[in-house]
Amino acid sequence: MKTNFLKELDVQSKNAGCWIGKSSMQNRDLLKSYSPVDGKLIGEVTITDSISYNKVIEKSLLAFEEWRLLPAPKRGEFVRQVGEELRKKKQELGKLVSYEMGKSFQEGLGEVQEMIDICDFATGLSRQLYGLTMHSERPGHRMYEQWHPLGIVGVISAFNFPVAVWSWNAALAWICGNTVIWKPSEKTPLCSVAVHKIVVEVLRRNKLPDGICCLINGDASVGQWMTSDKRVSLISATGSTRMGKIVGKTVAERFGKSILELGGNNAIILTPSSDLKKVLPAILFGAIGTAGQRCTSTRRLIIHKSIYSKVKSVLQSAYQQIRIGNPLDEKNHVGPLIDKNAVDQYLKAIDSIHEQGGKMLVESKVLKGNAFSSGCYVQPCIVEAKASMKIVSEETFAPILYLLKYDTIEEAISIQNSVPQGLSSAIMTENLREAELFLSAAGSDCGIANVNIGTSGAEIGGAFGGEKETGGGRESGSDSWKLYMRRQTNTISYGDTLALAQGIKFNF
Ligand code: NAD
Repeated sequence: MKTNFLKELDVQSKNAGCWIGKSSMQNRDLLKSYSPVDGKLIGEVTITDSISYNKVIEKSLLAFEEWRLLPAPKRGEFVRQVGEELRKKKQELGKLVSYEMGKSFQEGLGEVQEMIDICDFATGLSRQLYGLTMHSERPGHRMYEQWHPLGIVGVISAFNFPVAVWSWNAALAWICGNTVIWKPSEKTPLCSVAVHKIVVEVLRRNKLPDGICCLINGDASVGQWMTSDKRVSLISATGSTRMGKIVGKTVAERFGKSILELGGNNAIILTPSSDLKKVLPAILFGAIGTAGQRCTSTRRLIIHKSIYSKVKSVLQSAYQQIRIGNPLDEKNHVGPLIDKNAVDQYLKAIDSIHEQGGKMLVESKVLKGNAFSSGCYVQPCIVEAKASMKIVSEETFAPILYLLKYDTIEEAISIQNSVPQGLSSAIMTENLREAELFLSAAGSDCGIANVNIGTSGAEIGGAFGGEKETGGGRESGSDSWKLYMRRQTNTISYGDTLALAQGIKFNF
């Protein structure tokens, strides 16, 4: 494994995991980062302790005082420069994402591109952040609304998108005038250090206050300091529904704001009119891409009974051709799971499938041998299942695809909506009535509903997020920026007399 990219990104051996802008803080305890690709120790990051955490918060609050008064387009200029630096480091960062997380190099590059795209988007947006003007019922009055920054935005991110999710939050939070503290996944700490170092250069060049961009590292307990801290105005947390239930409750108890981006259990409805040749790549990418570790991975395929047998055999033969191996080698389609714990979860799900009567069409297995020495490579599998099986309604973060049969389009939509999660969904059809029904109020109940494209691969221009146990948050495009600001309604009286609301008069 050539490791020049580690040198380029300056994340070799031991790294400070706690940063207030340009200054780093070294603590004693270490977080070790092992690559799921080859099982090797890539580097170490120091864990943030409570004293450092409090310093981070104080500095961040201080920076906010200054940052919120800088005109938004100037804040946008900072974000534009961050995007430029990311462009320069795209190859190296993409490689680190691939090596530390295990997704393909192409997907690693795609993640960095998403970071660049959101920086571009946020830069333009920094000249907008518009409020509405309303007509007042009182003469000589003007009424409008404006948007102000919140304060500190705490970003808690998951391992499977170790850099992009932070950037969706940070770029918007910054142009809105907030400072950002990032608590990345304990499984991908080096990615966070590499990204932080890239931002630090921009901070330094622009002589901006340190506390605008902060990084803390550690497990859930470090995240908990932020979620229960009144000084952190908004918590944007991405991860499992289990985590979201705890975080949502903790933040709500202190009347903080939260954006929750949680688990998905995404389905594609495959109708008789769909062009199988055209849609097969989307199904495969959704099911096996990132080794089934995307929140938008396709986990359920709801197939019309008239094409069920054909689809089954096409998929079985396509799965025989999947190449599993080092994700940095472009010839491979599927890389490893994040760690051995994830492999255990995969195996546990397979046991449940057997217990609940599922039929394996492509058998599961943990791959052995030199090429798979990390012990994290598994065979993507296909299961013939029923929507009523409990395991089908759960999110297993691994490449397991359930095939389900339907008769009417209404039944297909009902199966699609029958799970507790509500992130992404798709229908493959050439029939306009089916497509429109799927997109109507009686259709998909998910935050994302696609026609003739798969469940994975959202663009940053749209608002990203899901309903039900996916948490209800929205990030990235459209008007998601409003979640990073507080709305203020202003009424100004400019007339000779002051009119009270509701016609109330005082006769002094
Ligand atoms: P996870 O819930 O184990 O951890 C996510 C983050 O939350 C980590 O940084 C972790 O340290 C932190 N955390 C965990 N418990 C916490 C607590 N009680 N308080 C504060 N912080 C806490 O998730 P994971 O295994 O890293 O990621 C996989 C999950 O993330 C999947 O369920 C996937 O669907 C979901 N995900 C969702 C989206 C989305 O946008 N909806 C995007 C990516 C991943």
